[in-house]
Amino acid sequence: MRLAETFADVRTRYRGSIGLVPTMGFLHEGHLSLIEAARAECDTVVMSLFVNPLQFDREEDLRSYPRDLERDLALVETSGADIVFAPPLDEMYPSLPLTRVSVATLTDHLEGHHRPGHFDGVATVVAKLFAGLRPDRAYFGNKDAQQLSVVRRMAVDLSFPLEVIGCPIVREADGLALSSRNVFLDEEQRAAALALSRGLMSAANAVEAGERDAERLAALAMAPIEQAPLLDTEYVSLVSQDTVEVMEVLDRPAFLAVASWAGSTRLIDNIHLAASGDDFVADRGIRLDHPSVLYEGDPPCC
Ligand code: AMP
Repeated sequence: MRLAETFADVRTRYRGSIGLVPTMGFLHEGHLSLIEAARAECDTVVMSLFVNPLQFDREEDLRSYPRDLERDLALVETSGADIVFAPPLDEMYPSLPLTRVSVATLTDHLEGHHRPGHFDGVATVVAKLFAGLRPDRAYFGNKDAQQLSVVRRMAVDLSFPLEVIGCPIVREADGLALSSRNVFLDEEQRAAALALSRGLMSAANAVEAGERDAERLAALAMAPIEQAPLLDTEYVSLVSQDTVEVMEVLDRPAFLAVASWAGSTRLIDNIHLAASGDDFVADRGIRLDHPSVLYEGDPPCC
């Protein structure tokens, strides 16, 4: 596995088809599952590690975002990636970019509404990675479902000649979706955070039993969250997969998404609902059968 700090250096190491896994580092098995998916389909697998200042809507969130390059490199070493691209800030942004990528309408709701400017930052950095690294395939997690829809649309709109691939959410054995930010949860907050996946799983069961009403699905997702006083919820919403429009009735591929604060940690989760004939199939993600690697060390900062 090679560590590269410049776009040019990454490209000199290419052979065959190229799979890119963009991340902000502080890796967990969710990120590693994307490498696995890329490894199965590509000759060269590149993982990028870059905490992108442009996509943070709060200064404090950027300052405290967990970082540990040494730990990340050790994890990638065992995971099957060929190249880690960890650019310094001035390689990614030699000067403040005057050109920004902004995806309209898909960013009106959910994360786009609650984190102003976030998706402009995401779309801009992902466009730079696509242009600078020229992958054939790029792998993203369903965990950030709206981000996946935005990136897919951006790639089509800007004619990037690549395939964007969405991968299932990796969860702890008890259902909590893995996130770099989980390291900030104390014991009580972590226990409360389980309400998110519990609510989503009960909505998933209802969908598969024939429920199509968005309000009733949101109420099912909210029920355990309301019982968890430590959580402060921003939204529970059923939106269409391609356009991220709020839906009243489940009648096309969609995701039911939730965002809650547990103390100063913001958590997001969702279930993807794929059409299968007249039915819908819920993607409940993948559960680990062991505690995730995140909990082996102490929180790196904060
Ligand atoms: P991040 O480092 O949080 O920006 O995430 C980098 C990529 O990993 C994004 O495509 C995320 O959707 C994906 N990801 C994050 N958490 C998970 C998870 N629990 N399961 C699967 N993919 C994930």
